[in-house]
Formats: sequence, C-alpha cells, structure tokens
Amino acid sequence: MVNLGNTFMSAQTFAPRSLETEIQFLKGIGPRLAPLFGKLGVKTVADLLFHVPRRYEDRRNIPPIRSVRPGQHATVRGELIEVSSATKGRGMVIIKATIADESGQINLTWFNQPWIGKKLREYKGEILAYGMVKEAHYGCEISSPEWETVGEEEEAEEFGKIVPVYALSEGIPQKTIRRAVRFALDQYLPLVRDPLTPPILKAQMLRPLRWSITQIHRPESDEFRAQARQRLVFEDFFYMQLALQMRRLQSHQEEGIGFPLAALDVPVLQEIEGMLPFDMTGAQKRVLGEILRDMESPHPMNRLVQGDVGSGKTAIAAAAMLAAVRCGYQAALMAPTEILAEQHYINLHRLFDPHGIKTVLMVGKLSTKDKRKAIDEAATGTAQIAIGTHALIQQGVSFHRLGLAIVDEQHRFGVMQRAALRQKGLTTPDVVVMTATPIPRTLTMTVFGDLDLSVIDELPPGRKSIKTHWKQANERGAIYSSIRSLIAEGQQAYFVCPMISESEKMQTQAAEDLFYRLSSIQYPGFRVGLLHGQMKPTEKEATMEAFRRHELDILVSTVVIEVGVDVPNAGIMVIEDAHRFGLTQLHQLRGRVGRSSQQSFCVLISDGRNEEARGRLEALVATNDGFRIAETDLRLRGPGEIAGTKQSGNLDFKVADLVQDGKMLEVARQAAIDLLKSDPNLELPEHAAILDRVLGQKGNRALVTVS
Ligand code: ADP
Ligand code: MG
Repeated sequence: MVNLGNTFMSAQTFAPRSLETEIQFLKGIGPRLAPLFGKLGVKTVADLLFHVPRRYEDRRNIPPIRSVRPGQHATVRGELIEVSSATKGRGMVIIKATIADESGQINLTWFNQPWIGKKLREYKGEILAYGMVKEAHYGCEISSPEWETVGEEEEAEEFGKIVPVYALSEGIPQKTIRRAVRFALDQYLPLVRDPLTPPILKAQMLRPLRWSITQIHRPESDEFRAQARQRLVFEDFFYMQLALQMRRLQSHQEEGIGFPLAALDVPVLQEIEGMLPFDMTGAQKRVLGEILRDMESPHPMNRLVQGDVGSGKTAIAAAAMLAAVRCGYQAALMAPTEILAEQHYINLHRLFDPHGIKTVLMVGKLSTKDKRKAIDEAATGTAQIAIGTHALIQQGVSFHRLGLAIVDEQHRFGVMQRAALRQKGLTTPDVVVMTATPIPRTLTMTVFGDLDLSVIDELPPGRKSIKTHWKQANERGAIYSSIRSLIAEGQQAYFVCPMISESEKMQTQAAEDLFYRLSSIQYPGFRVGLLHGQMKPTEKEATMEAFRRHELDILVSTVVIEVGVDVPNAGIMVIEDAHRFGLTQLHQLRGRVGRSSQQSFCVLISDGRNEEARGRLEALVATNDGFRIAETDLRLRGPGEIAGTKQSGNLDFKVADLVQDGKMLEVARQAAIDLLKSDPNLELPEHAAILDRVLGQKGNRALVTVS
C-alpha cells in the first residue's frame, strides 16, 4: 500500500510520526551532533522536550547602551558602525565590532572566529548582543557575546524574550540546542498526551502538559515559567510516589504473621517495663504501640522507626523482640558494626537471660566452633533471639521460626539486605528498620517511602542539652587542661582521632598516635584505652567493657564508635580535626554523650579552613536537633550524597530537586495516596497512561508488581 500522506507532504510540513523519533532525524541535528546530544541523555524527541533549561536569561528589557555597567550581563542593541580585525601573537585573530544607539557605543569582541568578521563586514544594520560587560580601554566591551543581526522584517530570534539556557555537552552550541527545541515544539508538541486526568489537574491546580512544556522552554513570563515547572516537578514526584505507595499497599495485602498478642498473660509493655530500669517515654510507648499493632495484623510489617540519637530506640527493639518471643517466634536484630552488635548482645543478654530467653551473637569473626554453635542454636530454636552483623544473612544461617527482623542503624544497610533478612523466615517475618540519624523528611518520603513511618520525637527525661564548642587547633592545650579537671571529678571522655584515610591501617596508626600522645604526655595520671577497627573482636569487647565499667577514664577511638555505643557516664566527646567528618557523622559521634542527667560537652577541634567545613561545624554548634542537622546536611551536600541513599536509584528526577521542592513532594505524595484509594492498582482505563509512566520511571520497576 502506498502511503499517500508522505508522498504529498513537502519537507517543511512533513508529519512527525512519533515522540520516540531519534534525535538525529530532527532538523538541524543530524548524525554528527546526535551522539553529543546522547551525552546529555537526549536520544529522542521526547527526551529533548523534557530537557529543561538549566537557567534563563531575561532579555526583555534592552537598556540604552550608555546605561550598561561593567560586571553585569546585558543585552544591547545598536547600529553596526565599525568592524576591525587584528592578529596578535601566535596567529590569534581578534574581531572587534562597534555598535551604537542614540545614547552611546560599545565594543563587541571575538577571539579566533574569523568568519564572524567576514559576516559582519558584509552586513549593514542593527545588531543585538548579549553577554558579560567588562571595562575596556575605551569604555565598555562585551567579549564573546551571543549575537544576532536584526533583519528588516524578521523578529530577532532570541532577543526581547526570556531565553532558555540549556546544559550543554562539548560541541553543541547553545544556539543549536535552542533551535532544535523550538523545532521539536513546533512539530512534535501536538503528539504529547497528558497522562494526568482532568480531575487530577483540577484538584492539584496544575497546568496541562503541552502548555507546561512550551512555557518551560519559551516562557512568556516568570509566572508562567514557575507554573510550568511546578507541573513538571509534580509529575516527577507523582510517579515515584505512586510506585512507593503501591509497594506499601501491596505489602499490606501479602500474607504475614499475625502475632496473638492479645492472648498473652502479661501485656508486652507491662512486662518490658518490669525488666527495664526506667519507664518508657510517651513517644516510645506510642511507637511501640504502632509496632505491636502491625505485629498483630496478619500482613507483613514494613516500618521505619526514626528517632534522634539517644531517643531510646534499643528499648523499643527489645520490647518488640520480647513480643515475638512470647508468641512463640524468634527475633533477629541486625547491626552495621561488630562493636554495635556486641553491645546490643551484652545489653539484651543481660535483660533477657534472667527471664529464660536465650540470646546468641553472630558476627563474622567468631571462632569456627562458636559460630557453629550459634548457627545451630538459631536453626533449632534453642536461641530465641539472634543478634549480629551481616553474618546473620549469610549462607548457612537459618532460623527455626523467625517472626521479627529488626535492622538497626539502617543507613549502612541496603534494600537487598532487608530482603535477605526477610527470606530467613518461613513465612514473611515482620521487619522494623531503625535509623541512627534522622534523615530529612524529603528523603524519608523518597528512599523509605515504601515503609510505614514511626517517629520518636522525644528524648528520655532529665537529659541536659549537650554543650558544643568549636575550638581552633592552637587552643588545644587549654582544652586538654579543662578536660583534665572534669575527668578528675569522675567524668569519662571519648577522643576521636582524625580521619586521615579510608585505609584501616593508616586509621589505626592515627589512633595509636593520639593514644600515645594522650596516655604518656597529656594524661599520664589517667587510665587511657584504645579502640580501632583492626583489633580482634574480643579485644574490642574487652576495651568497651572496661570503659563501660569505668575502669578506663579516656577512650581513644577511630570512628568505629560512631554508631550506637552507649556508655551513659561518658560525658565528654573530643573530635580531632572535626572538619574531616561529615555533618551527620559528627552528630552521631556527639550523640555518644548526653546520655545521662549530667552536663555533657562536645569539643570540635578544627581550624575549619574551607567554607563548607565551617558550615558544618557552625550547624553543629547551633543545634542538637538531628532533624535540623539532617536538613542542613541535605542542603550542603545534596540528596545523592546522603549516606546510604546513593544506590537507591530513584532520586534521578528530570526536573524536581529534593532540596527546593519539598513542599511539592508532600503534595504529590498525598495525591498518590488519594488516587490509589479509588484505583489501588491503577487498572482504570483513564489511568493507563499514568501506570505507564510509573513503570517507565527508573527505579520503580523493582517496587511495583503488576498482574
Ligand atoms: P538510640 O536511640 O540512640 O539507639 P539508645 O537506645 O542507645 O538510643 O538509648 C540511649 C540511652 O537512653 C540508653 O542509655 C538507654 O538506656 C536510655 N534510655 C532509653 N529510654 C529511656 C527512658 N525512657 N528513660 C530513661 N532512659 C532511657
Ligand atoms: Mg541505637
């Protein structure tokens, strides 16, 4: 069959067939430029339409030439009155053009672009130019401006407007990409279908897609541009939120364990409070209540527990594990470091042993015999509680009847490990993830958006807020002596050595150096201990235990103590070369103190030479609030760098920015929840395009199961 449509179309009016048309077929691009566009992630016309400008230049107001000032970007318009070219050393050609309006004149210069000279010499008339104005020998000059001739009839292409500026890759001039986008808008925009339905657009007060794509590239006003961006940001978030919420709802449907908590003789809260030396705070009780409610339900629990350092997450974990055990199941607690696993083991063993609940420790460095014993006790069910590191999810470890898995200090663990732990259960065990450091709400909603959230928003009573000081290196002597008197009064102190390298060996060296300096020079009268990653587990444990028992006054350590270590009598934290640590890492380290009712101190020693480092140290001095610190961290480092979220893969948005667009994320999340209420699996025909986008977004496929 002959395709008449094509035969009768002239080149100018040919009908584009698809948004998936390869970019090389677009007018003005071709096979030579196409690979360069590919480097920007632009492979198809659709990619180009969604390649949003990096910024804009407002060229609507053209000032009189006389009024432009050096140091500003400006657009000028004037009659071309002179063109000259000069050759400087090594054959460099400089083209100079002078343009003038009634108010004055200005020079435009270009280097090594002789064709510009050629073109200008043949031209008579007005020129428009845009660029940075500089002071020159005679008045002002714009070097390497963007420019256009103003033809008699044609409107100037890129002037008198808000002009988009795109991210470029080498070899693509800004002009080329602008033309390509304009061409794509002219020819292909009618093919764009809006996946969002009219009711959604109306409810969220969003502009239609075609309008938004046009305005994001060729804005008529700042207001329209902002509205267009809002619409596109919403979409970026919306599809991801739909995927996460669908995952969450789907797991609520799956078959899990319904723990018969109501049938217990003694309610869990009552029993755990009888074991612990304190009453739970209101926040702890509330969060525990949320966990227990999930445990009772016959569907799997997937819950994220967030609480600042020292808010008492361990007690909640203990209570949940007790609940599982009392219902006849086993519980596992997975920690990111051996030190932390050992510490949890010591505490929980002490707590549960008197009540006939057996706890085992599973870490990598156990002797073969001990490991075999631990594995055996987990597999037969002799041990009701297993505590460990990654060793827990390794081959060869199985459980008799695993009902609950708790992952402590999540930021070191990935989604895969969560899944591996889940597979250790016969049925799907309940999973609780506890984060060490608060993470910004925006990240919670993205990276952990498939989990139900509990927040411990209260610290145990009687805590004094930690006093944080930032001191210069030359004040070290004075700091050391004031600490001496505090230790003499019975306080204990941590000294964290500078982080000098990723290598454990060099890190150990740094710790040993500091240990030597403190034990033999600064504090010969005190008992000083040393802790680093290269010690044997038994040595680490012995050192921690000695510090815990106050047989040591000072503990010199590498960052191995960063997470979870809990010695309430230690009230002083000294961090050497504090600028070398990340913000949340510093907050974690500081969180080792302030765990009793005594006044605690944190001293950051650093000359803080660069601005970013100063920002971190100042933030730390300014607040003890982990949530605020997390927000600052997000601003300073950007979402991709926040620990543990780099690999998650669903943070690549086309338009949205997690730092700027937190509000819209919230809106999109609610919109997703609302939409799924009426159509949980996006099965309605009017939502087919939405489902398509959800599945098309990178990182979503792993989350959503479609039938
Ligand atoms: P994190 O949330 O950082 O893991 P921990 O669970 O280590 O905090 O608890 C911090 C300290 O507070 C521990 O010494 C713990 O015994 C104590 N603690 C926890 N809950 C309470 C409470 N309700 N009342 C008093 N002390 C508590
Ligand atoms: Mg903890």
